[in-house]
Amino acid sequence: MLVRAKKGEYAVAAFNILNHLTLSAVLKAAEQERSPVIIQTSVATVKALDPAALAAFARPMADAASVPVVLHLDHCQDVAMCGLCCDLGWDSVMFDSSHLPFEENIKATQEVRSYAQTKGVDVEGEVGIIAGTEDDISHEETSLAGYDDTMRYIKETEVEAIAPAVGTAHGLYSGVPEIQFDLVGRLAADSECPVVVHGGTGLEDAVFRKLIELGATKINISTALKLAYVNAMREYIEENTGTVNPLKLDGFVTEKVIAMVVPFLKLFGSSGQA
Ligand SMILES: [Zn+2]
Repeated sequence: MLVRAKKGEYAVAAFNILNHLTLSAVLKAAEQERSPVIIQTSVATVKALDPAALAAFARPMADAASVPVVLHLDHCQDVAMCGLCCDLGWDSVMFDSSHLPFEENIKATQEVRSYAQTKGVDVEGEVGIIAGTEDDISHEETSLAGYDDTMRYIKETEVEAIAPAVGTAHGLYSGVPEIQFDLVGRLAADSECPVVVHGGTGLEDAVFRKLIELGATKINISTALKLAYVNAMREYIEENTGTVNPLKLDGFVTEKVIAMVVPFLKLFGSSGQA
């Protein structure tokens, strides 16, 4: 999916879903836009829903969609959890050992990838440290990826996608992020490995366009979905204090999540690619 995106000069959006409702909404938006899409689950979500229970509804829903869907595990620092998700039907996993010293990061990633390969599962790796909080994983400061380190990591681990820390961050931005556009461009030009940008929520449209132009092919959106989901619930409940109608609540929230997803698919150029 990402190799195709790189050739087509667009990016695939990866949304961190939280439950059945948000998964269903993202799939509906992708189908409406005829767009490929990546469904991501954080480790916290996987644990909260139970890995097997989540796979039991997410896998068939992804397969039944009329557009290409990849089910991906986001930021996992736990080798056993990566292995379990490989066993349970995820298409790809992000193994994040970027907090380890560089040589150990390579070694740990190689170990996870060699198991994932036996299950036909792809691996996304990280070099440098992406700042901010993504559920259970939190880093105060960015440690930018170096070009040489990242190229070596790609070569030695043979990961199917690379998330270099380029100055974007998880959560909400308090100022304007200093993004290393040059690094994104050089990595995308010099390596076949698709480049992933984390921390997509809150970036300007022009920044997204520039990243995609430079060759970024997967862009992660998590916080925007959380906000759309919770704000829609709050809005519906505040406006309907006299009634109790969970199905109408869910319908309202679903529409709001779809309305959040669609503009990203259009902006990233993936609309109409499926
Ligand atoms: Zn991330």
